[in-house]
Amino acid sequence: MFAAEYGLKGDPRLEAISEAIRVVPHFPKPGIMFQDITTLFLNHKVFKDIVDIFVDRYKHMTISVVAGIEARGFMFGPSIALAIGAKFVPLRKPGKLPGKVIHEAYELEYGEDCLEMHIGAVQQGEKAVVIDDVVATGGTLSAAIKLLERMGAEVVECACVIGLPDLKGKGRLNGKPLYLLVEPRFSLVEE
Ligand code: AMP
Repeated sequence: MFAAEYGLKGDPRLEAISEAIRVVPHFPKPGIMFQDITTLFLNHKVFKDIVDIFVDRYKHMTISVVAGIEARGFMFGPSIALAIGAKFVPLRKPGKLPGKVIHEAYELEYGEDCLEMHIGAVQQGEKAVVIDDVVATGGTLSAAIKLLERMGAEVVECACVIGLPDLKGKGRLNGKPLYLLVEPRFSLVEE
């Protein structure tokens, strides 16, 4: 279980959250320990606890934007946005958003990917939090931060359910705080 920046050390809800995550070895390719969060949603209490934890953290920070990263950030972001009275902004893979977009490329372990955001989705000076399921290298979150900042938003924090500490994702976030609930129950890559 995470501590320090994870803020909730000792919270009894974390144990159940961790246990509700299914770990699928060698998916989608050999060596990856895939953190399958779909199993969290089969347990209403676990899903609610996760949303409650994020809502409690962000409800008094005058955040007006919850930005969710495709696809699994979409599974948490809207519930959090509704509860804290913020808008939800989807950050999507290339070619999915129909309006005018800005895009930001980022490096993957092998290759490159890109995130896009609709122009006009956020306004100058808005306070935003970025939500995703897992942080590994931090490349995806760093692209999300850049998109929001290019539109003049202030990214207050990034939040994920699971953090993979072996990949040091936090170092790529340009000093932005990273709020994580649990670490994976198994290392990312099998010995
Ligand atoms: P990264 O950009 O390296 O921090 O990777 C984070 C993105 O990749 C997130 O959108 C995750 O959904 C996905 N991801 C990376 N590693 C895993 C993993 N082991 N299990 C599940 N999703 C992962």
